[in-house]
Amino acid sequence: MSHLHEFDESTWPFDAPINAASFTTRYVLDGSLPILEVYHDHDGEWQFMCGTTNASADAKLVCLGCIIGRDLTLIQLADLPEGWLAHRESPTQPWAREPYEDSDATNEA
Ligand SMILES: [Zn+2]
Repeated sequence: MSHLHEFDESTWPFDAPINAASFTTRYVLDGSLPILEVYHDHDGEWQFMCGTTNASADAKLVCLGCIIGRDLTLIQLADLPEGWLAHRESPTQPWAREPYEDSDATNEA
């Protein structure tokens, strides 16, 4: 479904399409918690997490452009490589980046 976003789409910096399906938590979606952990999955998907839950029952599907529109500091993470995560202590702190293991691959080994 096509819709507009709260920023200039002509400067979209992500490799993924602006309407790519991404994951977040219901607490981020309802505005009760900020995004403190961002995962760029080994399969290319993006996850924008509050850091308090990884339960699948709390996971919500969201348009990539819409979640970026909620927090424009996320644009700084557009070049985060696949298999890397970014985290911060609070929304006023800078993002720190590090690679992480592909949990799916470890389980299959
Ligand atoms: Zn959207």
